[in-house]
Amino acid sequence: MVVHQTTCCYCGVGCGIVVRQEPNGRLTVEGDKEHPSNRGMLCSKGMNLHYTVMDQSDRLLYPQMRLGRSMPLQRVSWDAALERTAAVFKTFIQKYGPDSVAFYVSGQCLTEEYYLVNKLIKGFIGSNNIDTNSRLCMSSAVVGYKLSLGEDSVPVCYDDIEEADVFYVQGANPAWCHPILWRRIEAHKTANPHVKIICVDPRRTDTARSSDLHLPIRPGTDIVLNNAIGRLLIENGFVHSDFILDHTDGFAAYREQVMQRTVDEAADLCGIDAEAIQQAAAWIGRSNGFLSLWTMGLNQSVVGVNKNLSLINLHLITGKIGKPGNGPFSLTGQPNAMGGREVGGLANSLPAHREVTNAAHRAEVEAFWQGPVNIAPKPGLTATEMFDALANDQSGDASLKAIWIINTNPMVSMPDANAVEKALKTARFVVVQDVSNRADTVSFADVVLPAAAWLEKEGTMTNAERRISYLPKILDAPGEALPDAEIIWRFAQKMGFGESFNYANASDVYQEYTRLTAGTNVDVTGVSYELLKKYRTIQWPFPEGAQGNGAGTKRLFTDHRFYTANGRAQIHAVPDGNASEPTDEDFPLVLTTGRIRDQWHTMTKTGRVAKLGQHSPEPLLQIHPADASPRGIREGQLVVVQGRRGEVRVKAQLTEDVRPGLCFLPMHWGKVLNNNQVRANNLTSSLVDPRSKEPDFKFTAVEVKPYRKP
Ligand code: SF4
Repeated sequence: MVVHQTTCCYCGVGCGIVVRQEPNGRLTVEGDKEHPSNRGMLCSKGMNLHYTVMDQSDRLLYPQMRLGRSMPLQRVSWDAALERTAAVFKTFIQKYGPDSVAFYVSGQCLTEEYYLVNKLIKGFIGSNNIDTNSRLCMSSAVVGYKLSLGEDSVPVCYDDIEEADVFYVQGANPAWCHPILWRRIEAHKTANPHVKIICVDPRRTDTARSSDLHLPIRPGTDIVLNNAIGRLLIENGFVHSDFILDHTDGFAAYREQVMQRTVDEAADLCGIDAEAIQQAAAWIGRSNGFLSLWTMGLNQSVVGVNKNLSLINLHLITGKIGKPGNGPFSLTGQPNAMGGREVGGLANSLPAHREVTNAAHRAEVEAFWQGPVNIAPKPGLTATEMFDALANDQSGDASLKAIWIINTNPMVSMPDANAVEKALKTARFVVVQDVSNRADTVSFADVVLPAAAWLEKEGTMTNAERRISYLPKILDAPGEALPDAEIIWRFAQKMGFGESFNYANASDVYQEYTRLTAGTNVDVTGVSYELLKKYRTIQWPFPEGAQGNGAGTKRLFTDHRFYTANGRAQIHAVPDGNASEPTDEDFPLVLTTGRIRDQWHTMTKTGRVAKLGQHSPEPLLQIHPADASPRGIREGQLVVVQGRRGEVRVKAQLTEDVRPGLCFLPMHWGKVLNNNQVRANNLTSSLVDPRSKEPDFKFTAVEVKPYRKP
């Protein structure tokens, strides 16, 4: 039996996994007791991860292409697929300019893959048209951190869980979506009964049920609540005046903003009791360790950046940051959303947290890459903008013509999915690089490239606490599937950039990236595959010559010097309005979408594991009995959920776990199930936060009616 240590490829917790490979090829998995993130624990998804690679039945095995949209896909050689793609890209670039092509990648990609695609399009093709599905889940947190702390830098680590005595969980359901972190929180609370958990969520989730205080606010009122807590912290003497004076700017304007609304007014707007807000503020104010945790409930909003700022403000006015057990902790959804941020895999970024709009940053990266073009000074198209541009393509202008989609399934995961579907039909050229044909997007591809899966390629990922893990290659990929990094460097060679993409292995790519981080706040010049194999994981920054046992940097800002130009954190006065699409007579209910416990994203992996389907075999619409009754909706009845852009037909689940006026629908399922349209994103809008460009998945105006057979 051969034993390997690797990392779970589902969520941003980044659990260590021990994989055992028996002589007959059978695999088993268990939690890695040596891994500091999970200490041997795994959730239901992680425990069943080996089945996703043992079942090869839906794998893409060979490159395929079609010569016209109505023609079938046919097996071709790698050379033929990449040469055709290169020829089409070159033609479009020559005729319409470099912004006529784009890459849409994924937080599932390894850091090396993210880095290579970024280098190819920004440094060699000359466009910043690369964005990632992480835009859909954490870009509001990125902007929030930048505006308040000076850079996209998570200040805390998981070990802060055991140091905290108040947890403020807002817009997150870690009991289902970050289960191993939640188990650490629960174990800490069991051992220390004085620990308090506050959960802010319009839904009574498992996290809310296990909390000491549940604040079921009206959707879209997070800022109202956070500002009210800020006001109470000020009024009750819980602010840290010395910290504010010595290490922050902006307090006076913040004070003025939060004083504009009384706590009673805030409670009315949020739809909760004023006493509950006072209780939350008192616990936060008196805490020794105040850890706030959030995910999509704050980020996936048309005011997502303001929501983030309003929460980070609570740490800055109390000085509860940069010390054990204290800090604002944005949990990443995907396994390598953080790695993608480090290498600049967003339309506005460059490696090591540099910006395309910063001339000095561009010059540094240009000098390092020595590409044939200057890096463009304007941000490229973001996720929703790419699909809008494809849909609006008019032959002859310079809009987007070709898109290359890597390890993500926008047909299901993007907002306003019917529009995305039309965009993919309109696109002149679509390349899909993926592991399996379960991804609905494959059916729109002109060229399909088979990619190696988890365990079939080596590379690195960074989890939510800045912890870099090495993932070894354990298995050969089936058929002719190749590691994503190799696909990209082979394509770059076909494009004529061979000298700059002449890598022997993923380690070469990683070493190149680490050199580009020298002297930055993300400095990982001391990290290598050898060191990661020796120490298992390292938290960045870890510059060359860094001492210690390889653990890296647990916490940032321990000296209270922030990454802003003047070294001071910025407290922002944020208005508390929401700008989501309005409800009205026709669409009076608010729909929020999200995950369920045992499924992951669009089910291209978890859908292969039968036992994960048992928890919830089909999508159910959660609706409050007070909303169901006047509409004549009964438990289990088929209902039509109608929105301004489309509809779905699913069974109703009557529950008081959602507020009256609110419905919930899981986002995992594709277009059709049992002859019913069930894709939640038929309903969602493509409204985005103006700064982060993150969509407003959590607030869609809908109506729900019983389904009547025509
Ligand atoms: Fe994998 Fe996340 Fe579960 Fe850990 S918590 S086993 S990383 S899905």
